[in-house]
Order: sequence, then C-alpha cells, then structure tokens
Amino acid sequence: MNNHTEKIHCLIIGSGPAGYTAAIYAARANLKPIMYTGLLQGGQLMNTTDVENYPGYPTGILGPEMMEDFKKQAERFGTDIRFGLATKVDFSSHPHKVWIDGEKLVEADAVILATGAEAKWLGIPSEKRLNGSGVSACAVCDGFFYKGTEVAIVGAGDTAAEEAIYLSKLCTKVHMIVRRDQMRASKIMQDRVVDTPNIQVYWNSLTDEVIGSNVVEGVRIVNTKTGDKTTIPVTGFFVAIGHQPNSEVFKDYIKTDDQGYIITSPNSTKTNLHGVFACGDLQDKIYRQAVTAAGTGCMAALEAERWLSEKGFK
Ligand code: NDP
Repeated sequence: MNNHTEKIHCLIIGSGPAGYTAAIYAARANLKPIMYTGLLQGGQLMNTTDVENYPGYPTGILGPEMMEDFKKQAERFGTDIRFGLATKVDFSSHPHKVWIDGEKLVEADAVILATGAEAKWLGIPSEKRLNGSGVSACAVCDGFFYKGTEVAIVGAGDTAAEEAIYLSKLCTKVHMIVRRDQMRASKIMQDRVVDTPNIQVYWNSLTDEVIGSNVVEGVRIVNTKTGDKTTIPVTGFFVAIGHQPNSEVFKDYIKTDDQGYIITSPNSTKTNLHGVFACGDLQDKIYRQAVTAAGTGCMAALEAERWLSEKGFK
C-alpha cells in the first residue's frame, strides 16, 4: 500500500440527496463514511431554484441551500466529505477498489453508489439560455410555478406522457411536441394523453427555438413533413426526452438495465455484488424526486451497516 492508497470502511460516491442521506445514517451508525462528491457537489438540485415539495421546508427553499443543509447535517456526524470523481473501479475482489481522479486508490469494505442521473436536453442555444427561467426538465418539481398558464412539453415516452398529464391539471393548456407520428409511451399512457382535453399533441414536430429574452414567452416548432413553422405562446417549456444515469464507470461490474440504470433487488438497494449498494436516481427511473432519493439513501446505509456487521468488518 503506498501513499496513494487508503483503506476505509464505508465509501459513498455522489453527493445528491441520496448520497448525503446515506452519509448521515452511515456516520450516525459509526461507519466512518468517506464521501467523494463528484464534479457537481450537491447534484442536480444545484441547478434548481425553488424546491417546494421537500417535506420540512414549509416556505420552500432554494435547491443549492437545501443541499448545503444536507451537507452540514452529514458533516455534523463526522462524514469526511471530499471533492473528487470516481474515475475507475475494480469490484472483482474484496475490498472494493475505487480510483479517485485517476490517481488515488480507495479500498473500501462497503461502497454506496449515489452518482445520480442527468436529464437529456435538446441541445439548442435558446433552451440553454432560458434554463431555470421557464425551461425545466422536471414537471413535478417546477409545474406549480406555471399554474393557470399555457406550457409546452417535448418528448413522447412515459415520462413525457406522465408529466403532460400532471401539467394538464395545473395549467390551462399543455402543448405536447412529438418528433415522430407516434409515441414511445405505453399504450395506456398514450390513451390518457389523447383523452385529456387540454393537451394538444403536435405530431412530426421539432423544437426550432424557445422564444423569450429573459423568460420563456413561447416556442417555435417546425413540422418535419411540411416544413411549416408555428409559434405557440407559452410561459413554461418542459423537456422530457429521457435521462442518462451516471453508471458508466461501474457497468463492467454492476448489472444495469438497457438504459444504464443500476438494477437493485426489489425493496432493497443491494446490487448484484456483495457490499455494493446503489441508491437515488442512479437506480430509479420512475420517481426521480429528492425525497425518494433520500429515502433510498437511508436504505443503502442501513443495508451497508447490516452487511458489514454480518461479515464482521470493523
Ligand atoms: P424514453 O427514452 O422512454 O423516451 C424518450 C422520448 O423522448 C422518446 O419518445 C423520444 O422520441 C423522445 N426524444 C428523445 N430525444 C428527442 C429529441 N432530441 N427531440 C424530441 N424528442 C426526443 O424516456 P422516458 O424518460 O420517457 O422513460 C425512461 C424509462 O422509464 C422508460 O423505460 C419508461 O417506460 C420508464 N418510465 C416508467 C414510468 C412508469 O412506469 N410510471 C414513468 C416514467 C418512465 P422517439 O420515440 O422518437 O425516440
């Protein structure tokens, strides 16, 4: 073992609600967790403004402030929080090996993976410019801010269908932009979309530009069959074209589904490998909420603690 190798009991990779909650529980259980935060310390909530649906904040809180609270709580019980990115792993034998920033090697008895997921974006400049000023990738998080107005949503999978229906209950009208002449969503979700009177579907349509100087004022779409351009006045523009779980570095050892989400046992955070647990958006493609991520972070720490004590690791 050289200076660049450290042997530890419990390693947590990732610093969103799942990682910090795992840290709080692991630290209180005296597992002496060390957390490597990843590049975006605090995770996806660092790119969010108001969070109004996390219990315990009756008047809402800014995403970055909430993550600072999570961090302080994890530190209060002794979590060693370090800035660094897991760049390589070797889970072929115990202890589990994780390389940080391509240099330092951490050998851990138990590892909790909490690296989250990232929303996919269309990649047009106006979408980026107005991100957080009317452009959002989470209807459940931000839909409330557009209550009583007209909004647009792009995408045609189960997420887009579910979010369009969610928005239709808050907004006067939902304009759904679908790039082909059919949806990918399950049949039942498609039927619900089509049967909702205030959702209008635009088939064969691409987003040309999100319009607005400081806030979203509309969206211009182009019909790929006719070339016709249409401008729709809206105050919110939701992108629901899928997510990318941050599992690339683990996938040679840990089982994932065809979209890269880590597969965990039912009602558990256990992966296919003993002593490696996964929580948060890295293994959840359905709920993707801070509160559900925190819940699975708690589960991961409790399961890691149980596993470590059963195996006699101290
Ligand atoms: P999907 O990958 O299933 O769907 C993405 C959608 O976005 C597709 O319709 C795709 O179009 C469209 N799209 C992709 N790129 C673009 C683009 N550049 N411009 C316009 N449209 C684009 O992602 P989801 O997040 O919807 O779902 C992920 C997984 O999670 C799925 O397996 C889904 O079934 C599951 N899920 C389950 C839920 C549930 O059970 N309640 C709820 C939510 C998700 P195209 O079809 O043309 O490729």
